[in-house]
Amino acid sequence: MIVRARVVVTMDGPPIENGAVAIFDDRIVDVGRFKEVKARYRKSIDDSPPGSSPSRASRLRRAAPAGSVVDLGEQALLPGLINTHCHLDYTCLRGKIGPQKSFTDWIRAINAAKARLSEEDYVASINEGFAEAKRFGTTTIANLTAYPELIAKIDEPIRTWWFAELIDIRSPDRANEIVDLAIESLKSKKIWGLAPHALFTASPNLFHRCEEIARRENISLTTHLAESREEMSMFRDGSGPLYEFIKEIGRPMGDCGHEARTLTSGPLDARSDRAPLPQKWIIAHLNELSESDFDLVGRSKWKFHIVHCPRSHGYFAHSPFPFERLRVLGFNICLGTDSLASNENLSLFAEMRAFQQNEPNVSPRELLEMVTVNAARALNQSRNGGTLGRIRPGFHADFTSIPCRGLRDVFEEIVAFDQASTIWLDGKRA
Ligand SMILES: [Zn+2]
Repeated sequence: MIVRARVVVTMDGPPIENGAVAIFDDRIVDVGRFKEVKARYRKSIDDSPPGSSPSRASRLRRAAPAGSVVDLGEQALLPGLINTHCHLDYTCLRGKIGPQKSFTDWIRAINAAKARLSEEDYVASINEGFAEAKRFGTTTIANLTAYPELIAKIDEPIRTWWFAELIDIRSPDRANEIVDLAIESLKSKKIWGLAPHALFTASPNLFHRCEEIARRENISLTTHLAESREEMSMFRDGSGPLYEFIKEIGRPMGDCGHEARTLTSGPLDARSDRAPLPQKWIIAHLNELSESDFDLVGRSKWKFHIVHCPRSHGYFAHSPFPFERLRVLGFNICLGTDSLASNENLSLFAEMRAFQQNEPNVSPRELLEMVTVNAARALNQSRNGGTLGRIRPGFHADFTSIPCRGLRDVFEEIVAFDQASTIWLDGKRA
């Protein structure tokens, strides 16, 4: 099958006017100008001797008879968008928690709201979240769930990395057990990872166990790090609302109140005797970094992936995200939506626009990279030639298409897009 569009945005070279993509099964087999793709397709079919082995030509022949073209008309076809940080568990909390006086008050408020939800509520909430993400052109999502035992009940409509969000603040002696139990549930899914929640809720043992599993199973890891000013004062000063709240729960607070703080433990443990796993870690937030943190990450040759959630960041009024400094240091930066307990919808288009407001010098093309190419890299999908985040032969046929009148730069048009869009997943309209 050939899909033709007014413009094809491959994220490799410049956008292709009057472009087309040839698809076989779930993969892209050719991309270029419509005329050329069509001619190559025709020629492949004509040249392939009958009965020849499954060469590209005979695969194409089986793919569709010549002339099987889906013309999208005045549309831009782009790689499906990839959300690298969200919690679909809380889709049903949209608009339920107004901005609070402090981050700690927000944690209290979400805990109270969660206590009123049943298993059925969570399943419905996750399903609703998937449907919404899909409507906004998202074909791949990294979803953190606090309830891995529920995921067997969910038939996700888009490509999903299921991360079990793990907390052992009340029972640090059970860290291994908590991880192993979550894995039992995760294994019902093809793609999964582990998310020790944060340094203030997950013990060093929990982090180590997750790293051990990541080595063994070759999975991705994610965590929340340096998100709020209160987390900073908890670890650096040994005081503040988060410090008091967490201490009350019974967490040992010996790692708080030291000048060198959060970043020297957990995933960035410089003293670790194990080989670091930077390629496995997707670190959410990093809003609050001290100069010594910058020294530490600057000196390290290991670069993990960073996900910034612009609208959730705005909701909490965190300190400005140090985008330029982190980018110059060589980090791979992506965008996520976070949950609807601190955001209004699951649109990555809206995240690109929110980011652009804070960073007007970042080009629309770079914005789109943060939810395609960079995000695929964060999920380890750019290795060995890659499979996601671009329109390129060999990649999954995952696309988003949006109306495009060609009145201005296509990247500007994509970033400005504010409607529901159509997605293609593995070569099928989804
Ligand atoms: Zn989060």
